[in-house]
Amino acid sequence: MKYLLVTAIAVLVFWLWRHSRKAEKNAAENARKARPRRASKETKVTQMVACDVCHVHLPRSEALIGSKGIYCSDEHRRQAGG
Ligand SMILES: [Zn+2]
Repeated sequence: MKYLLVTAIAVLVFWLWRHSRKAEKNAAENARKARPRRASKETKVTQMVACDVCHVHLPRSEALIGSKGIYCSDEHRRQAGG
């Protein structure tokens, strides 16, 4: 009789544990579905270019575009003659 009671309590505890885990999982999944994924849409892609003199990579918006190529600084643009 004692073992039956212990087994019943163990089964009850296990069932409660499983039930609470399932509820947490469902809540997390619902929260994930409700929240739209904006991060990927808001992420901007920065195009990187390499300086023709020193080959340093930099964002295209910061690069100096000369007649002969793309440079990281005015010094390298003058050095390349572009
Ligand atoms: Zn450079």
